[in-house]
Amino acid sequence: MTNIQSTDEKYMREALKQAKKAQALGEVPIGCVIVHDGKIIARGYNRRNTDQSTLSHAEITAIRKAGKVLKDWRLEGCTLYVTLEPCQMCAGAIVQARIPRVVMGSMNAKAGCAGSVLNLLQMKAFNHQVEIKRDVLREECSAILQDFFREMREKQRAERAPGTLLRSLRGSLPGYVIVEGSEENAADIQKLMAGNEAYFHLVQEEIPTLEQAKESYTVLPPGTGRDQKTFAVFYKKGKCMAVLDFIWGYPEENTGFIGLFMVAADGQGKGIGKKLFRHIRKAARENGLEKLRLGCYASNEPARNFWEKQGFRTVDTREKEAGELLVMEL
Ligand SMILES: [Zn+2]
Repeated sequence: MTNIQSTDEKYMREALKQAKKAQALGEVPIGCVIVHDGKIIARGYNRRNTDQSTLSHAEITAIRKAGKVLKDWRLEGCTLYVTLEPCQMCAGAIVQARIPRVVMGSMNAKAGCAGSVLNLLQMKAFNHQVEIKRDVLREECSAILQDFFREMREKQRAERAPGTLLRSLRGSLPGYVIVEGSEENAADIQKLMAGNEAYFHLVQEEIPTLEQAKESYTVLPPGTGRDQKTFAVFYKKGKCMAVLDFIWGYPEENTGFIGLFMVAADGQGKGIGKKLFRHIRKAARENGLEKLRLGCYASNEPARNFWEKQGFRTVDTREKEAGELLVMEL
C-alpha cells in the first residue's frame, strides 16, 4: 500500500466517524473531514432533518468551519474527504471554495455530481478543476448507508404490520385526551359501557350490563388476536366521555372493525360522536386501513342514522335472534 493510499484511508476513517454521528441522530449517515497540512481542520456530518435545513450537508458544514480556521473562503491546499459522492450543492461549494482535491468513499449513482449524474468538479468551462480520488474505503462507506436504509425499511414495515404497538388510535383532538384502554382505566371503560339509560348508545346491541361489558372487553371475534383489539378512551377534563372498541385488520387485512361506540349522556347532541369518529377514521387511514366495518341492528334507529350520516352503507344483512343485523361499511 502506498503512503498516499494509507493516508487517504486514515482520513476517510475520520469521515466515517462523522457519518456515525449523523446515524446516531437518525440522519442519513454521511460524514466529511477537511485536511490541511496533514491536520484535520474541519469536520461535518449530515444534519438535514435535525437542523431542518437542506444546507446542513456534511461537506457544507465542514467547508464553513474550514474557512473560519484558515480565515479565508479559499480553501487552498486542502483535501476534502467525504463518505459519499457530493451532491450538486456540495460539489458547487467545493469548486467555489477552490478545494484542490476531493477523496470519496462510495458513489451515488442517482444524485452524485462528481462523476455519476454530472461531474461538476471537473467541468472545463469553470475556472477551477478538482483532482478526484474515488473508492477509498468504499465498502465501509456504502455498508453504513445500506445498513441505515435497511433498518429504516424494517422500521417502516414494523409500523405497518398488524398488532404492533405502533398501531394506535391515540392522537390529539381539541379538548380531548385519547388514550388506549388498559388495566389502569378499565374501570372507567366498564362504567361507561355498563351505564344504563344515562348513556346514549351508538352501536348495534342493547346497552350491556357490567358483566357483559367485561365479557366484551375480553371476547374477540373468531380469527382475531388479543393484540388486534384496541379500546380508544376519550377523556375530557378528566372525565371519560366515550369509548370505542376497535379491531385492526378484521375481517380482512385492509379493514378495521368498530365494535362498541359509546358516548356519555352529557355528550349527547353536541356533535361529539361525529368528532370522535372522524378521529378514528383518520387514525385508521394513517395506519393503512382502507375500509371500516360494523354491525348495527336495523331496529336501532339512532345508531343506524348516525352511521349513515358518517357515510356507512349496508353491504349485507344477517338474521340474528335479536332481529335483523345490518353489516355496514365505509
Ligand atoms: Zn451535499
